[in-house]
Amino acid sequence: MSNIIAVIFDFDDTLVPDSTSLLLEKFGVDTRRFWKDAYSKLVTKGYDPTLAYLKLLLDLVGEGKPLGMLSNQELNEFGKTLDTMFYPGIPELFDDLRKIVRNINELIAIEFYIITGGLHAIISGSNIVNDNFYGFYGCTLDEEGDPPRLTSIKRAITFTEKTRYIFEINKGIRYRDALVDPFAINTFIPHSERRIPIENMIYLGDGYNDIPCFSLLAAHRAASFGVFSPEDNKKAQHSFIDMVQYHRVQSIHIPDYKEDKDLGSLLRLAVSTLASSISLRLQSGYVR
Ligand SMILES: [Mg+2]
Repeated sequence: MSNIIAVIFDFDDTLVPDSTSLLLEKFGVDTRRFWKDAYSKLVTKGYDPTLAYLKLLLDLVGEGKPLGMLSNQELNEFGKTLDTMFYPGIPELFDDLRKIVRNINELIAIEFYIITGGLHAIISGSNIVNDNFYGFYGCTLDEEGDPPRLTSIKRAITFTEKTRYIFEINKGIRYRDALVDPFAINTFIPHSERRIPIENMIYLGDGYNDIPCFSLLAAHRAASFGVFSPEDNKKAQHSFIDMVQYHRVQSIHIPDYKEDKDLGSLLRLAVSTLASSISLRLQSGYVR
C-alpha cells in the first residue's frame, strides 16, 4: 500500500505568471503580437498549440533576431530570476504541507511535481523548484553550433501528453530513466504495486491543457483545484465554465497560497484529509 502523496502543479499562471511571456518581454518582443497574431494564426492553420508557440519561439532565435543566440544555459539563468515572481505563499506552502503530513503520520511522505507546457530549461533554473520539487516536466529544446543556440524541439508537452507524466509519477518511473527510455511508461505495473496511486494525488492548474489531468484525477475521485485570474474577465468566465460547471475541479481560486487565503487553506485541508485517510488505512492494515 502506498504511503506517498503527490501534489502536482501546472507552472505558468499557476505558480508564477506566464514564463514564456516574461522571457519574450525581457528581449523586447511584443507579446500581444506574439500570442494574438502569430500564435493564433498558426493554431487556426492546424498547429498543435504547444508546437505553435515553440516554433514561433525558435523562429525568433538567431543572429540579428530578437532572441539572439538564445541557449538552454541562458534559459536556465532566466529561470533563476523567476524566484522573486512566484505567487504569494510560495515557497512557505511546501514546508507547511510537509509539516502537516509529518504530524499526522511519520510514515507518510509528500512529494511535489510540476507538469507544464512551458520550457524545462527555464524551470530548472529556479532554486525554489530545485529545492522543493521531486520532479518537473516541461518542453525541451535542442541546440546546435558554437556558441550553441536553440534550433529544434526535442520534447513537447501538450494536452493529454500531460497525463503521460501523471502515469510516470503513478508508476514511479524517474525522469532520467524516461529520458533514455521513452517507452518505459508502457511497462506493465499492476495497480497495487504502483508507487503513487492516482487517488493519492492532488492537481492544480489554470488552463485548457490541464483539463485532461483534471478529468483523470476526477475519475479516481482525487481532488483538483483550478486557478484563475480575475483581472481578465473573459478568460475567467471560460475558466468558470470549463472547470467548475463541468465539475472537473473542486473549486477555482486566485493563486494565493498563504495559509489564511482560500486556495492556501483548502490545499492544506485537502492534504491533511488525504494524509489522515492514508494513516487510518496504514493503522488498520486495510489494503485497497
Ligand atoms: Mg498554465
